[in-house]
Amino acid sequence: MGQLGHTPQAGSLSPLARATRIIVKIGSRLLVHPESGELHASWLESLADDIAAYRERRQDIIVVSSGAIALGRRELGLAKGPLRLEVSQAAAAVGQIRLAHAYREVLGRRGIRVSQVLLTIDDSENRRRYLNARNTLNTLVRLGAVAVINENDTVATAEIRYGDNDRLAARVAQMTSADCLVLLSDVSGLYTADPRRHSTAKLVSEVSVIDDDIEAMAGNAGTSDGSGGMVTKIAAARIAHAAGCHAVISDGRLPHPLQAIEEGTPCTWFVPSSSPQTARKQWISGGLEPSGMVTIDSGAIQALRAGKSLLPAGIVDVKGSFQRGDMVILCNASETVLGRGLSAYSLSDVQRIMGHNSSDIQSLLGYRGRDEVIHRDDLVLAAEQSHIVEE
Ligand code: GLU
Repeated sequence: MGQLGHTPQAGSLSPLARATRIIVKIGSRLLVHPESGELHASWLESLADDIAAYRERRQDIIVVSSGAIALGRRELGLAKGPLRLEVSQAAAAVGQIRLAHAYREVLGRRGIRVSQVLLTIDDSENRRRYLNARNTLNTLVRLGAVAVINENDTVATAEIRYGDNDRLAARVAQMTSADCLVLLSDVSGLYTADPRRHSTAKLVSEVSVIDDDIEAMAGNAGTSDGSGGMVTKIAAARIAHAAGCHAVISDGRLPHPLQAIEEGTPCTWFVPSSSPQTARKQWISGGLEPSGMVTIDSGAIQALRAGKSLLPAGIVDVKGSFQRGDMVILCNASETVLGRGLSAYSLSDVQRIMGHNSSDIQSLLGYRGRDEVIHRDDLVLAAEQSHIVEE
């Protein structure tokens, strides 16, 4: 059962206790003994207790877990030392089954459903796939199945690999608008110098700006924990920071590693300057080139101003060349720009469904897409835009 029952005063709550959606990244070495290749079963049980406790507190949790290659290597009896790419991919294929099974067993015993999601870098960089991955992950959360994510190692070739799950986890945090990213590894956090070589090295407990000094500290920290050393952890923290998500690097080797963070174990927190919602709106406002223009009627304008999504019924015209997930400008009949957003449909699909009720989408397109052409989370109105810039 959960171990996180205590409820400290609001002011003293750790960002982990306050978070609505948490991404936890588990490094290989925490889960799999580096020498024997055995699964650390009792540690995994304690992690599962922590996960169960978060669920009891109604916090969403998504796990990004490494360990497939380490487990597969043992099962295949492969010798120690670096593996050729195709051999590590084969090991991942074998180990991933075991990894997913271990989570299913341990969380299943606590009444928690588990799902497996394998992602490649394309799923977060290509906007169409990004939108699909985001929708699937959000749906899994809604349906109450904890997603256990890993890189799709078997198909991710050298050029299109994250190669480390730290950045993958940060992309997942960004994609799902999470507000807390926990990077569990075998170091306590970011030190001012390599603590194994410098006795004066100090743990940095809080970082609010990730500048050159922080990068330099990471570069000097020495590496640990599978493929992701401190440099990739800082890269992950940077992605989370820009997405308005808190990130924490903590030594996960203790039992109940999440509870330990809440109870104040030494670790490094990265504190963002905005919320995930504001950061996402900033990204939509400024980060992308529009590739189309959607003209909407006065009813739709009113609905958007009241905080609703854009439905096909309110669209009167569409131009440009865009795919699902691309940025489009919204305007009224006299071409005054009203805002911008990510379209859930391509230009040709919008042409077919505009002016129609959402219930007709299936018969018009031959598939059941989203009811909204632009969901309100994917939309920034001009009035909001000036407010966001001021923040
Ligand atoms: N995807 C790899 C695995 O599951 C691990 C990548 C990493 O160590 O960050 O074995």
